[in-house]
Amino acid sequence: MNTINIKAESEIVEPSIPEGLPYVSVDITVTIDHKEFGTTFADAEVIDGYQLLATRHAGGSPYLLSCGCDEPGCVGINDGIFVARSAEILSWCLPNETTYLVAHGYAAGELFESNANVTTPRWTG
Ligand SMILES: [Zn+2]
Repeated sequence: MNTINIKAESEIVEPSIPEGLPYVSVDITVTIDHKEFGTTFADAEVIDGYQLLATRHAGGSPYLLSCGCDEPGCVGINDGIFVARSAEILSWCLPNETTYLVAHGYAAGELFESNANVTTPRWTG
């Protein structure tokens, strides 16, 4: 059994213009077995926080890894990560090899299974 950990840190950002409104910025970091898989705030390949959140309710092959501009093909990512979910098990299967996965020590077809019942939020920061 693997440990897929999702850490979310938020901060209130004050507007840079007088008529702007403050907003909340959320940074997400995903680790698998304590090794960083990705973040929402990297320079190129990023975790898509909305796709990640959607996997709480549905499986499929979402582009959990994408480009900061929202077009995964822009950074050579042509396949989503296969996500399956049962009452007990959350499974992620990595897609075809990309330079990002290789650079981060992951391999195409690698399968991770985690306990789907871990729902205790831990707020840090
Ligand atoms: Zn891009």
